[in-house]
Amino acid sequence: MDYSFLGNIINREVSGNKMYGLIERLYPICRSITGNGVRETLSIVSEIIPLEIIEVKSGEKALDWEIPLEWNITDAYVLDEKGDKVIDFKESNLHVLNYSVPIDKDVSLEELKEHVFTIPERPDWIPYRTSYHNKNWGFCMAHSKFEKLKKGNYHVKVDATLEPGSLTYGEYYIKGETEQEVLISCHICHPSLCNDNLSGIAVAAFLAEILTKSKPRFSYRFLFVPGTIGSITWLSRNEDKLGNIRHGLVLTLLGDEGKLNYKKSRRGNAAIDKIVENALKTKNDDYGIIDFYPYGYDERQFCSPGYNLPVGRLSRTPHGEFPEYHTSADNLDFVKADKLSASLVFLLGVFEIIEGNRRYLNLNPKGEPQLGKRGLFKKIGGESKTKDYHMALLWVLNLSDGDCSLLDISVRSGLGFPTIKEAADALIKVGLLKELNEE
Ligand code: ZN
Repeated sequence: MDYSFLGNIINREVSGNKMYGLIERLYPICRSITGNGVRETLSIVSEIIPLEIIEVKSGEKALDWEIPLEWNITDAYVLDEKGDKVIDFKESNLHVLNYSVPIDKDVSLEELKEHVFTIPERPDWIPYRTSYHNKNWGFCMAHSKFEKLKKGNYHVKVDATLEPGSLTYGEYYIKGETEQEVLISCHICHPSLCNDNLSGIAVAAFLAEILTKSKPRFSYRFLFVPGTIGSITWLSRNEDKLGNIRHGLVLTLLGDEGKLNYKKSRRGNAAIDKIVENALKTKNDDYGIIDFYPYGYDERQFCSPGYNLPVGRLSRTPHGEFPEYHTSADNLDFVKADKLSASLVFLLGVFEIIEGNRRYLNLNPKGEPQLGKRGLFKKIGGESKTKDYHMALLWVLNLSDGDCSLLDISVRSGLGFPTIKEAADALIKVGLLKELNEE
């Protein structure tokens, strides 16, 4: 694909390696919906794009919710009678139940077992479990190790604090030519999990960096928020801005080997739904389209009925459809630089449509204008590309009757948007098309 406004900025391989490098740096940090792990993560992302960091105090209302106490953890372990660590947070931050209350006491094996989570079907993986709203303490471990725990007493310690503090999120706004906005959101609340949260953060951060250099027509707002409570908090404090949102995407799970999957907005026929579907269809790769349903990531909040924003979700394999989901196997081996890169390149294609979609009027609509004498039969690369381009010229001329946008023409012709856009640009140059209004 050829990107007229982004074209020269991106180098696919370098971007893939840069995104993977960012994931490697963020991977060890213990994140949660609040706390220093989130702050550290946002501060690293700020090296790429200057994020505005927002802190909202514990106890403040956010729609039907309340900002929780802030959770911070320094250590957690379980000691057997010999004093050996049978579970150690320092080996993996998934070992502790996320948001576990502090604890420091002796327990029997029976009591310990009530607070340990495992996955019997995947005996070597540590599950990721949270308890944000029910006060509980707990640990997660490999089932194979759990089965080897001997009868007797254990000492459990979670060295954590759960105190009034704040919820932290990051926001980055790129001012375009118009106030009309594109909203991009990703979640930042998972600890050492790569595809689930870190891939979305990495793709969003580098996408934002590229868009900053591209002087876009639309304004772009990037949100790096803890899942659910973060988007709810942002929505509750920014209702005055929602009217400007023309398109939106939640980004998550973009680094695995699966095909791209687009989940439609609640509206189902919003422009973003048509745009992403068209970009997927004309890409020649397998893909999936999922109708909206009220579960998943933060599209649930953006598409709640009181907002009903035109926000869809892009991922590769959806949550719950790969066994590594929410386990220690969603690690640095599970995400691939080339897949991150392909996700980013695809999104640039989506933004190319958002930025480039217009309506034109054919100024010579009676009979076909003679293209040869205007030098429009150019030779570009292979046969099929030339043929597509020629067809694109004819489609654009034929459908530019004032009703159809370039996206409509791409959909009807089955030709990729970049080819349609290139043809339209050429027709404008020779005076055969006039721009009507902005899409
Ligand atoms: Zn998750």
